[in-house]
Amino acid sequence: MIRKFLWTVLCICAFLGGCGEKPADPQTAAPGTEPQAGTVASVSEGNAPAVSPVAAQSYTAVLPEAAEEAEIFVEAIPALPEDFIRGMDVSTVIAEEESGVVYRDAAGTERDLFDILADAGVNYIRVRVWNDPYDAEGHGYGGGNCDVEKAARIGRRAAEHGMKLAVDFHYSDFWADPGKQYAPKAWARKRIEDKESAIGEFTEEALYSILNAGADVGMVQIGNEINKGVCGTYEEADVMRLLSAASAAVRRVAEDAGREIGVVVHYTSVDDTEATLRRAKTLEEYGVDYDIFGISYYSYWHGSFENMCSVLKEISRLYGKKTCIMETAYPYTSEDGDENGNSVGSGGVEGYPDSVQAQAKNCRDVAYYANEAGALGIFYWEGAWVPVGSSRSSNEAVWEQHGSGWASSYSVDYDPRDAGQYYGGCAWDNQAMFDFSGRALPSLNVFKWLYHGTKAPLQVMAFKELYLESGIGEPLEMPETVEVYYNDPSVTEGIKVEWDAASLAAVDVNAADTYGVKGIAADGTEITATVKVMNINYVKNPGFDEADMSMWKVEDNGSGNSTDVQKKAADALSGENAFHFYSTEVIDFKLEQELSLPAGGEYAAVVNIQGGDVGSDAQICLYVECGNKLYSSGPVKLSGWQQWQKAKIDNIAVSEGETVKIGVTVKAAAKGWGTIDDFEFYSLK
Ligand code: CA
Repeated sequence: MIRKFLWTVLCICAFLGGCGEKPADPQTAAPGTEPQAGTVASVSEGNAPAVSPVAAQSYTAVLPEAAEEAEIFVEAIPALPEDFIRGMDVSTVIAEEESGVVYRDAAGTERDLFDILADAGVNYIRVRVWNDPYDAEGHGYGGGNCDVEKAARIGRRAAEHGMKLAVDFHYSDFWADPGKQYAPKAWARKRIEDKESAIGEFTEEALYSILNAGADVGMVQIGNEINKGVCGTYEEADVMRLLSAASAAVRRVAEDAGREIGVVVHYTSVDDTEATLRRAKTLEEYGVDYDIFGISYYSYWHGSFENMCSVLKEISRLYGKKTCIMETAYPYTSEDGDENGNSVGSGGVEGYPDSVQAQAKNCRDVAYYANEAGALGIFYWEGAWVPVGSSRSSNEAVWEQHGSGWASSYSVDYDPRDAGQYYGGCAWDNQAMFDFSGRALPSLNVFKWLYHGTKAPLQVMAFKELYLESGIGEPLEMPETVEVYYNDPSVTEGIKVEWDAASLAAVDVNAADTYGVKGIAADGTEITATVKVMNINYVKNPGFDEADMSMWKVEDNGSGNSTDVQKKAADALSGENAFHFYSTEVIDFKLEQELSLPAGGEYAAVVNIQGGDVGSDAQICLYVECGNKLYSSGPVKLSGWQQWQKAKIDNIAVSEGETVKIGVTVKAAAKGWGTIDDFEFYSLK
């Protein structure tokens, strides 16, 4: 604060013309010249803004007003707001350019990256900021060496292209994510009170530098993926104090600058619905002042689009907050461009193969569901992080010198266990929207095509997984056509398939097993269907998922009522229901069903049980009563929650007309618990 105040005084002095030359005005500086971050401030008396104006826009892209012809299909998103954030994180761009990377548009013409992004419809840039990503000798840790000065330069270039800037403070000297939230070196031994003032001061100073470079800062993230904490602080109340201090600093700068700047909190793992809603609730309980609840959403890690959408909607509804996808991406290839393995080798989400078309569709679908949720928009993460060269040996010196790899060897003192060990190149080149040579892929244009879509040749993206179940002894019936994912999802027509005779013949319909059946689709694609030949199960309602329980008999001999049918998927082996037992008193019950069999012969019986705390004298077993014969599985030992134990009895000899009963007996200590699920009784032929 004090330093900032002195700085402002010096700048006022400079502007009043008394103490030196007037600093260069970034608005009038020639395009491409780099202002010195933090050296420019226009301050006048009164309440006028104390920062430089936003750099003048020097490049304007022309965006489509109708569907364009293209080689990939993009489905338009109806009623997408004009200001929907079509963002791109390009934090490594300066390190990339310094490493000799040249960006080309789709036509192959060498151009400034921001020109290409603007033409593709990108309207917002995100940049991460590390406090001090350098070792004692000034060597960069890598990952773009993203310090305040680089953020300021990137922010100015964005503004010159009419794009706003999202500043992503990691409050760390290097990568901060759910696994790591190391304090910056300078804050490592600070007490919480001192960290609180440090985070406020750093936020203010950094923001002034970035604004004074001419950036149009629209939002500021106070921490990156802070699921576990922030800058080495993990205690909930302390984390909330730090967030509040950081937020207050953003508010002060915004007011001082006369700008509207949104405060963003940023978490990941939205697939954990409960935890995500709890985070929003915690922020509310502590009264943290923020505007936007931001999440990372990578569809290969973070659950379904629908779930992401419903969680964001719920946060908006409950707490009146805006939401935003701060990070997303998808691979266009499973190849690696620089002999440094990639974070995500293959996307693996059904319907999204590793292709340029699928990358565009995935990004469009993230935007679609974000818009459905009422979110502000999306940021594609590091879409321009391409290899600096193709081979590891020739790249290593470049990564070390310019920090264009994910980490350099110089990070060893700061992050000895991960970056310091496994440093190297780009782990994201297969998720960039530029090919390995830096040429824009058609998928980059997805941003400008979100409004009106494209007209493109119909293309099969992937075949739907085909899974068939067949009862034992039944003839195998394979479908004549298979379903596919088209690039245009409004087309649903199946594709004819010729099943391979030898592969079909290998399926023994009399042996319960899982088989792969090969075929060739009409378009020449080789496909494999999964065929599961299943035993005919003579147990009725074997998994307790049907409401009718009349076939089951429960005989409870314990001292308390210990059983019920419980609806809880996590405690069931399949479906939602399982037969549950628990009592504070001694448990002793028998669960039994009389079977109706078509004929005598050899049979087998199976049941699955999980549970614990049943005591060392527990007696739990599967049994089959067959006339006057009794078959038993022997004792089943329970070993904890979701540790399913399978009890099986083979070679049960059933004579014609015999009464056959299957059941489980449980004798257990008080407070024993468990569930029983998925009985089977089938013929062994
Ligand atoms: Ca790579």
